[in-house]
Amino acid sequence: MLKIAVERTTAPKPKPEDQTKLGFGGIFTDHMFLMDYNAGEGWHDPRIVPFGPLPLSPAAMCLHYGQEVFEGMKAYACPDGSVRLFRPDENMKRLNLSCDRLCIPPIDEAFAVEAVKELVRLDAGWVPTAEGTSLYIRPFIFAADAQLGVHPAKHLIFCIILCPVGAYFPEGLNPVKIYVEQEYVRAVRGGMGYTKTAGNYAASLKAQEKANAAGYSQVLWLDGLEHKYIEEVGAMNVFFALGDSVVTPALQGSILGGITRKSCVALLQSWGVPVEERPLALAELLEGTRSGQLKEAFGSGTAAVISPIGALRCGEENIAINGGNIGALSQRLYDALTGIQWGRSPDPFGWTVAV
Ligand SMILES: *Cc1c(COP(=O)(O)O)cnc(C)c1O
Repeated sequence: MLKIAVERTTAPKPKPEDQTKLGFGGIFTDHMFLMDYNAGEGWHDPRIVPFGPLPLSPAAMCLHYGQEVFEGMKAYACPDGSVRLFRPDENMKRLNLSCDRLCIPPIDEAFAVEAVKELVRLDAGWVPTAEGTSLYIRPFIFAADAQLGVHPAKHLIFCIILCPVGAYFPEGLNPVKIYVEQEYVRAVRGGMGYTKTAGNYAASLKAQEKANAAGYSQVLWLDGLEHKYIEEVGAMNVFFALGDSVVTPALQGSILGGITRKSCVALLQSWGVPVEERPLALAELLEGTRSGQLKEAFGSGTAAVISPIGALRCGEENIAINGGNIGALSQRLYDALTGIQWGRSPDPFGWTVAV
């Protein structure tokens, strides 16, 4: 394995004083990881350096054509004093899946996990310890060629940065109101929906603004072809307790395969709850709200873990789910996942790794 060169900062920044006011994504630690790719040389020169601006040509291809992929994961401060990651191998596997779609040369997944660990160990003093807080980890790769022609880059940069982040719901699990978007789409099958790449999020902004302006916190995306099937919610996968089972849309190319989603499916199955991964039509969901078969709904993702859905706005209709309250399964999944992630309960699946 390549050796990572380390240049420590000579000017450590003050750490946030009030961990209850961390918010998300605006505070960065003292160091970052960098590695270069050049055609002919491959990935080389892995190094940890003080966090700071990157020299980049205004012609850098990522700025013009969006050849970029990223990941989102967290490190958690556990009661035994260890700092743990949650299924980091899954993040790096998905990063390579995204790389493949965007014509970015693959990274060594095991090495990338080691790079995360080494960076987190160096900035371990930045892992917040207040209830619900964590260290968010953002690995990303972008095209750095100074070249305005459209082609796969020959020079790329792999970077990892870290942010201490606050509790997503400081007052506990609050059900969110969701806007069913029937005009704009996020992704289509054959496109890049299953990858974490910048363009998917640029495509989502307009609908997100529309939902926010109408008083809703997130968008429920429908499929790009027929606008008929449920895809996901904002940057979360979505689950519905429908009848006696839990239904989540099947991954068919336009949906991001969430690691929280995969973990929810495993937990539900281990509890004997039937899980169906299949196409789910909006019409079936609306029918379920009328018949009483729709018992609860929730989103899943690294940021919020589980986000219960209390209401749906669909056209002119406002539909309450579970009386606008958090459902029993949502609460049970939230408790189980956060228990494992923050090291408060046993980890029967072996999902966590110490840095
Ligand atoms: C990251 C992301 C998710 C959730 O994935 P996790 O691995 O569970 O964090 C879901 N949908 C989209 C669009 C995402 O970007």
